[in-house]
Amino acid sequence: MRSARLFLALVLAVSLPLHAIAQTAPGFVHPFAKQQMVAAANPLAADAGLEILRAGGSAVDAAIAVQMVLGLVEPESSGIGGGAFMLLFNPATRKTTSFDGREAAPASARPGMFLDAGGKPRTKPDAIPGGLSVGIPGVVAMLEMAHKKHGKLPWARLFQPAIALAENGFPIGPKLARTIANFKRGANMPDIKARFYHADGTPLAQGEITKNTDYAATLKRIASGGSKAFYTGEIAQAIVDKVQGAPVNQGGMTLADLANFAALEREPVCGPYRLWRLCSMGPPSSGGIAIVQILGMLQRFPSAQLQPGSLSEVHLRAQASRLAYADRAKFVGDPAFVKVPIKGLLDPGYIDSRAALIDPEKDMGTATAGNPPEKHAALSPQKSPVMHGTSHMTIVDKSGQVIAMTTSVESVFGSNIMVKGFFLNNTLTDFSLDPVLNGLPVANAAAPSKRPLSAMSPTIVFDKDGDFLLSVGSPGGPAIIGYVAQTVVAMLDGGLIPSDAIAQPRQLNLNSPTRLEKSTVNDALAPLLTAMGHSVTVVMGEGSGLHGIKKVKGGYIGGADPRRDGVVIGD
Ligand code: GLU
Repeated sequence: MRSARLFLALVLAVSLPLHAIAQTAPGFVHPFAKQQMVAAANPLAADAGLEILRAGGSAVDAAIAVQMVLGLVEPESSGIGGGAFMLLFNPATRKTTSFDGREAAPASARPGMFLDAGGKPRTKPDAIPGGLSVGIPGVVAMLEMAHKKHGKLPWARLFQPAIALAENGFPIGPKLARTIANFKRGANMPDIKARFYHADGTPLAQGEITKNTDYAATLKRIASGGSKAFYTGEIAQAIVDKVQGAPVNQGGMTLADLANFAALEREPVCGPYRLWRLCSMGPPSSGGIAIVQILGMLQRFPSAQLQPGSLSEVHLRAQASRLAYADRAKFVGDPAFVKVPIKGLLDPGYIDSRAALIDPEKDMGTATAGNPPEKHAALSPQKSPVMHGTSHMTIVDKSGQVIAMTTSVESVFGSNIMVKGFFLNNTLTDFSLDPVLNGLPVANAAAPSKRPLSAMSPTIVFDKDGDFLLSVGSPGGPAIIGYVAQTVVAMLDGGLIPSDAIAQPRQLNLNSPTRLEKSTVNDALAPLLTAMGHSVTVVMGEGSGLHGIKKVKGGYIGGADPRRDGVVIGD
């Protein structure tokens, strides 16, 4: 058994490009596994997930252990003070479902809550820090809901790896060290200063060992008391005190807001791509609709024109993205508050009519939203926010249960305030800061209990027989949709293995200039795209953090984004 694994690993090792091997975590020969696999943004978090799988846990169990460690070792990106979406494929029923742990606005939220005294939207750096931007955290409720339905091990067991690391200490990873050093605004926020700076004012550096005993104590309470111990009692009181007494931008969250929060199970958004079928997250995320639309438009073009890194692929994907982002900005919001015309937006005839707007030779410029064949309100498109504080994991267990989970505190270190060892999110600034634009309401305006629009797109693709084929997702704010679409096309049309598809230089269009990540491939593409009418901007590094798993003969291969600290491990 062991020698068979080694043999396979060696065969793969000689047949795959070098950087795929470089992603191998210590102790593992190759990101190939026969039975179970974890792909996550930090090696310590991935280890916790694999430990749980080896103990007989399900993919959901492992996700809980991964999340609890991420909140410790990658707190700038996700944690129990944030929100998440989880897509789950259940091999027993062959059905895919989704769990919504998106933060909700407290009862005190108002449509114009981020406008200044003159009625103009405040800037993000001004509105984010403190209590006003904090949504009711959804991660704990969502994980508990998923665990009740799909967990195997006892809830408390899943907290053990994170509690041990928080109590014994862990080395600061490269990304956390970079983030602390680059996040100058953080040095003025007391909690970040206390946690991540030495007394002499220098930031903690990579490799320094740090503990978080407050976080360990919090996890112990949730481990023994369940989500009730988070949404009521001492932790809830501490959240309320912190939000209401924040050093800047005090908010109005109350104990009732926390006690009334509920995670939701939702139908995912699914659609065809050539012979495959994919499912992703529906509203309040725009991710699923946008990705199904982009791929729905692209399947009108032959695969030969969609080869990774080719001019035609980048151009066509940019055009399809423009059209999908235009619809996203206008029609999508929390479905409990706005009637999102999901069926109309995914209607094959409508997608055809949108694809017909694509000129294979010329950039269309700014796209406008379409008129989907389903009743919808008169709305104004919102302006798109850009932020980065998110993590994506994907896990498959021995039974074939697959999860894809994107989890976030919204911006870097969320709202920059901490409670009992964890950061609170700033997800309310994902609402349109303008509640009304051009005299029309915006679908994503703030309101009490409403969930802000997201782009998070945990995505699972199925083969022609309906069997699991691959799973992928990413952080990156609105760019998530572009990152995931590019990676899926590269794997399906280009046949790239996950690590190659994930490592590709990014090209994106968020219905604005075409964004090229600095690289040799893109240096060559830039003048050609310009000649086709694209206005091109070059960025020095994209904020993707894709993690993916693909089913192959005899097992699974995976990929982790070289732009972050992630790994893929398995057995
Ligand atoms: N808050 C963003 C969203 O829900 C994600 C932020 C990020 O990825 O950095 O779309």
